Amino acid sequence: MRIADRIERLGVETAFAVSAEAAAFAAEGNKVYPFHLGDLNVITPSNIMDAAEKAMREGKTGYCPNAGIPQLRELLADDVSRSHGIDYTMENVSIQPGGKPVIGKFLLALMNPGDEVLYPNPGYPIYESQIEFQGGRALPYGYVEGKENFELDMDAIERQITPRTKILIFNDWHNPTGAECSPQELEKLAGLAIRHDLYVLCDEAYFDVRYEGKSVSLASIPGMAERCVILYSFSKKFAMTGWRIGAAIGPGDVIDVITKLNVNDESCSNHFIQYAAMEGLTGDQTQARQMLDTLRERRDAAADILNSIEGVRCFRPNVTFYLYPNVTEAMERKGIRDLDEFREALLHETGVSVCTRLHFGRALEGEKDFYIRLAYSGININEIREGLGRFKAFIEG
Ligand code: PLP
Repeated sequence: MRIADRIERLGVETAFAVSAEAAAFAAEGNKVYPFHLGDLNVITPSNIMDAAEKAMREGKTGYCPNAGIPQLRELLADDVSRSHGIDYTMENVSIQPGGKPVIGKFLLALMNPGDEVLYPNPGYPIYESQIEFQGGRALPYGYVEGKENFELDMDAIERQITPRTKILIFNDWHNPTGAECSPQELEKLAGLAIRHDLYVLCDEAYFDVRYEGKSVSLASIPGMAERCVILYSFSKKFAMTGWRIGAAIGPGDVIDVITKLNVNDESCSNHFIQYAAMEGLTGDQTQARQMLDTLRERRDAAADILNSIEGVRCFRPNVTFYLYPNVTEAMERKGIRDLDEFREALLHETGVSVCTRLHFGRALEGEKDFYIRLAYSGININEIREGLGRFKAFIEG
């Protein structure tokens, strides 16, 4: 069979190839320290599992409305209204099988072929894939090292805007860097979106994965809610990555189109899992809080060791479960000039499996430094200490 031409423009998540490589290395009898995948080795809170089972046994096993069950839409609208200070109702919420589907559906709803879309690079690879697959022009913007964390390269955004630029994809609490915008940066970004009449996808997959303080959304800035669609995810907040449940939240007319795409794609999201999601929002939060405590301990252990390695420099983000150390000097010490070669050497010499900058988009012009990404969500603290101890010995030895 001859595959359709458009498939050539469809990208993948190359991080999955790293998983396969790590699995093959482990199958040869080697010890692997899995820092590569943004998945959790913490189990979903038991009250959420109980709610799913109860709903299943009560017969919530058939189709449900395309936009999701009204009870969950209402609850989520109330929840996000409270956390964002925006007046959402259930008409603003379309339940989706995960946060990821919101990316493609948002673009299908709002982007015409030839439209320009600003997106973060390094960033979640599905943005670039979906923009190009659907015939848009992908305009990458980056992040730069600040004093305490990575900062948005605001100039790169502004510089690239033309009359054809229609959309900004923004992922605060950023994968892979862990960057978070300051209130001043959010104001500036909002001003820019309003001035240039941009629609915004606010990817808030990590809104609640934070160790101190409170998340503030770009959508909450006055004048922004009417031009923002929020990608909401239950995946990371409640350790529910494999359950596949999330939502698109935004202006009613766009949400209706997104639901119409559901009618054509999956009909509806899983029925009984929506009752589990309701339990997540309203039930006991003890286990979700414990998960954050566990993640914080892991972050601190990993950041401490990484920063003790000669030639490695690492921020300690207050959000997400990723670290994005600069390894330029460490690579020089080892005489390695290619980032993927460094990753492979690290895996084969120490068992430490990581992703690199290259798994989050094509390197931008002028980028000189080398970065790797470590996810500490899928590895216990003892293994973090052991694996990164080996990493240190490999660089310094
Ligand atoms: N957005 C970002 C930035 C992510 O890192 C992820 C998952 O890793 C997602 C969206 C999608 O998450 P999900 O589809 O599990 O809700």
